Amino acid sequence: MSLGEGQRWRGGHVGERAVCVLAPNSSPMTLDGTNTWILREPGARRSVVVDPGPLDEGHLSRVADNAGEVHAVVLTHGHADHSEGAHVFAERMGCGVRALDPNFVYGSEGLHDGEVIEVDGLELRVVGTPGHTSDSLSFVLPAEGAVLTGDTVLGRGSTVVAHPDGELGAYLGSLHRLRDLAEAEAIKTIWPGHGPVLDNALLALGSYLRHRAERLDQVRAAMAAGANDASEVVRTVYADVDASLWPAAMLSVQAQLVYLAQGSGLRRNSSLHE
Ligand SMILES: [Zn+2]
Repeated sequence: MSLGEGQRWRGGHVGERAVCVLAPNSSPMTLDGTNTWILREPGARRSVVVDPGPLDEGHLSRVADNAGEVHAVVLTHGHADHSEGAHVFAERMGCGVRALDPNFVYGSEGLHDGEVIEVDGLELRVVGTPGHTSDSLSFVLPAEGAVLTGDTVLGRGSTVVAHPDGELGAYLGSLHRLRDLAEAEAIKTIWPGHGPVLDNALLALGSYLRHRAERLDQVRAAMAAGANDASEVVRTVYADVDASLWPAAMLSVQAQLVYLAQGSGLRRNSSLHE
């Protein structure tokens, strides 16, 4: 599935195993709204629901209507636009919530890198992808060649490294990890937490890594040109970005300044160009 330029993403059936229900929380940060993913093996009874989204009755009802019997709710990370409705939804469906951060686990076990979730023939592999937040996970659906990335990779634009919980070094490591999976053809398509499906995972991950390297170069240049703090860097480097996004850009710049100050910038950046 792909969209023409400027066409709005509306969710719907994706591949053989997914329905994406779009939450009504569209904003500059959440793009078209949060993607709630319902995954089910063809012909199977039970589903897995990824990111129930905000606590919105109408949305949770639409998810329930599409989900049938739910084996488990799983979270890509704890940000409210993905997790707020999880507890209420799981209670309603009589299942648990699984997440990396124990604060979001409910009536079930947690989730960890390397785990495999199997439900009526559906296989979901958990890949730790910290960086946007420390608790960010991605889920690989081998049968679809797809990876659900939450906010680690979005359907449009770039994501925020949510300093101080989010860390740029970890984020770059996660992008490299996903790109390695795409290079090995373990993943071909990206099903993000916001915005449209990306049909070419390898291309998308390459451009995400390039974008991060360019931003780092711009931050270094802004500092060299006399910017004294993060807000001055934001005004210079994010001049092309709508001002409503500057608070988010501020977090990413702080993450970049920490990364550069740690001296990891040089080492890691050279590996971006390998
Ligand atoms: Zn998030």
